[in-house]
Amino acid sequence: MLDRPATGRSMDAETFAAFKDQIRRFVRERLVPAEPEVMELGQLPDWVLAEMREMGLFGLTVPTEYGGLGLSLTEYIETITEIAWAAPAFRAVLSINTGMICTALRNAGTDEQKREWLPKLAAGAIGAFGLTEPDSGSDSAGLRTRAAKDGDHYVLNGTKRYITNGPIADMVLVMARTSAENLPKNAHVSAFLVPTDTPGLTRAKPDKKMGQVGALTGDIVLEDVRVPASALLGGEEGRGFKTAMMALDTGRFSVGSSAIGYSRRILESALRYATERKAFGETIANFQLIQAMLADSKVELYAAESMLADALRRAEDGLPFSTEASCVKLFATEACGRIADRAVQIYGGAGYMAEYEVERFYRDVRVYRIYEGTTQIQQLVIAKNMLREFAAQG
Ligand SMILES: Cc1cc2nc3c(=O)[nH]c(=O)nc-3n(C[C@H](O)[C@H](O)[C@H](O)COP(=O)(O)OP(=O)(O)OC[C@H]3O[C@@H](n4cnc5c(N)ncnc54)[C@H](O)[C@@H]3O)c2cc1C
Repeated sequence: MLDRPATGRSMDAETFAAFKDQIRRFVRERLVPAEPEVMELGQLPDWVLAEMREMGLFGLTVPTEYGGLGLSLTEYIETITEIAWAAPAFRAVLSINTGMICTALRNAGTDEQKREWLPKLAAGAIGAFGLTEPDSGSDSAGLRTRAAKDGDHYVLNGTKRYITNGPIADMVLVMARTSAENLPKNAHVSAFLVPTDTPGLTRAKPDKKMGQVGALTGDIVLEDVRVPASALLGGEEGRGFKTAMMALDTGRFSVGSSAIGYSRRILESALRYATERKAFGETIANFQLIQAMLADSKVELYAAESMLADALRRAEDGLPFSTEASCVKLFATEACGRIADRAVQIYGGAGYMAEYEVERFYRDVRVYRIYEGTTQIQQLVIAKNMLREFAAQG
């Protein structure tokens, strides 16, 4: 059983460079031109999903023996950074499969569960990760969804909130409490693999959000949802919280790298506009105050890229990387917010208009600082780890 993401390259550097090049072309030639259609429809068009499936994007991290591409952690994150150049909806639909669910299955799933789910996920079945609830978000160990044992079944009751892919998912990994005993809050959280066509499971209409159009979120309501005991991830109660937290470490790299990929796009947009727009008889890129904004954004982007590369190296070397994953998530997403803000400023009045792309970028990036652990939660994780290490030094 793995207890860390897959490390070690899955292909030689040259093959991976060619693969990345293919992804980059797909992103620029197919996904970016599809953005207006996504904005219009409010979801990804079927032809886009079909092409993403055909390219194997839903199975990036699924081991090859289960029909996936078997990318290592670094290869996966580098691929996500490329995909994140396009609107966040494209990454959102596949990253729950490739990040959260696949990590959870690889780390904690039984052989039977892997055989059942990994080929379906690699082929493009859409997964959702059900942790957050109406009364527990940052305090995820406070979740209330119950899974009561009933013979060789469990009966699930509860509501999951803001669940990415909730409205369209084929399966959801549900975190639920398997005992009400007065034990530490997370000691009885278990994870269940639940097909969304199970009777009693309903999916609410997609939430209306500030940005990230096409990345659908919504409630998943569980009312006496009966699942066989074989749906319990790993076949063991009480491991769900640990599994969720480990999946979140990978998720933090994924959100951090998404912020980096989108920051690159935003900065390029700002550069293009600055070299085209004229004021006082010259292009605004000639003004040193505009140059200062461009330079500050470049510095922050480079710092985020370097931090990500260093953290991934640690993970690949088998070193603990929880602190570093949180540093990347915190810094890259906060920097992305500032980079988008400066881009709006460089665009001037046009930056406030929906006709131009930076207004959308500005709204899209706001949530990077909220999901997969808010900035404040990353601060708490980092400080807790620092204090623990300091105490251990005596
Ligand atoms: C678009 C979107 C997609 C999402 N997708 C998913 C998904 O697929 N699956 C899923 O399970 N969840 C998902 N979420 C939920 C997301 O992970 C939570 O919204 C997030 O963790 C914050 O929880 P909350 O909304 O309950 O905020 P709260 O926990 O109520 O936090 C409110 C504020 O208090 C701060 N705060 C909380 N506790 C502390 C503390 N101890 N110290 C200091 N400050 C604190 C927070 O940082 C925040 O500023 C999604 C959310 C969004 C917006």
